[in-house]
Amino acid sequence: MTATSGTVWDDVVGQPDAVRVLQRAASDPAAMTHAWLVTGPPGSGRSVAARAFAAALQCRGTAPGTPPGCGRCQECTTTLAGTHPDLTVVATEKVVITIDEVRDLITQASRTPSVGRYRVIVVEDADRMAERTTNVLLKSIEEPPSHTVWVLCAPSVQDVLPTIRSRCRTVGLRVPPPQDVADLLVRRDGADPGLALDAARAAQSHVGLARRLARDPEARSRRAAVLEVARRIRGVPDAVLAAAELVEVAKAEATAATAERDATEKAELMRALGVGDGDTLPPKLRSQLKHLEDDQKRRATRRQRDVLDRAMVDLLSLYRDVLVVQLGAEVELVNAAHADVVRALARDATPEQTVRRMDAIGTARERLEGNVAPLLALEAMAVALRPQG
Ligand SMILES: [Zn+2]
Repeated sequence: MTATSGTVWDDVVGQPDAVRVLQRAASDPAAMTHAWLVTGPPGSGRSVAARAFAAALQCRGTAPGTPPGCGRCQECTTTLAGTHPDLTVVATEKVVITIDEVRDLITQASRTPSVGRYRVIVVEDADRMAERTTNVLLKSIEEPPSHTVWVLCAPSVQDVLPTIRSRCRTVGLRVPPPQDVADLLVRRDGADPGLALDAARAAQSHVGLARRLARDPEARSRRAAVLEVARRIRGVPDAVLAAAELVEVAKAEATAATAERDATEKAELMRALGVGDGDTLPPKLRSQLKHLEDDQKRRATRRQRDVLDRAMVDLLSLYRDVLVVQLGAEVELVNAAHADVVRALARDATPEQTVRRMDAIGTARERLEGNVAPLLALEAMAVALRPQG
């Protein structure tokens, strides 16, 4: 453990370089910038790093000679909890951040902080802004009031427009080592160390996924079922069945995740429109409801595609392991917990065939991204996964 143990930086796992830059900025006004862009692959902890930075900027409990962000003072705890009055976090599950939302943020950015040292605005998915929206944001980022700090997060610098990029200081996060992720799960959630390491490897260091795998036996068995698909496909009929099954599972998972929220949102909207339970919606208000339902439908579709993409990343990791075994490389298996499946597949194919299968999975991912019907994309993939004799 480093000198930062017990602080707001604890959960920013496996990112010593980024932490150093942010700590320095928070402690030294000369190293401070008012617009930041935190980039990193999904699950690397962009929003965790952004919140830790926000807390460090507000912290009043730092002992002399230690980096800011004590983790214990009121400023730190409320910032991490998301309740600090001078902190705004935009976390959206929607496909886009709207121009009105951004205008709102700009108004907030212009206000002086009420209790904190800064007004901090964290935008977790800055890549979900249309160009027109981004242009509205530009000026505020270019000349922010001296008490305002913008922290934008995105998967990579390429995901935000050059105009924004050039006005922000970039901090890049890397994929954290699996052991660091496992340590976090043990420390934070009391996970079993062996299980935590399996989960961290299986999730390829995606912290959120690793946590879910370590915690939730159902998530583990769903993942195992996806990997089993690879072993079960013997011919075209199996492949077609397997594809349909993968799509069904993704649909069910997406629905389970969004159903409750959809209902709550609808009830809230009806209340806001002054319509009671069981009342019929007056025709002139129907467009409002339609709007919400369209949003929800888009969210469900997006979610289903995300679930499917994750299944394909899992499959890809399996064939990557198969290739590792076939080539006799001295590298750790991502799916060490499924070594039997890996070895069976390795025996049954040549490395060239394994590479072709990986290509087929990659193609399916691209087609899904390009809005090809999921079942079509997956059928083609599953057919390519069958044994080639
Ligand atoms: Zn503090």
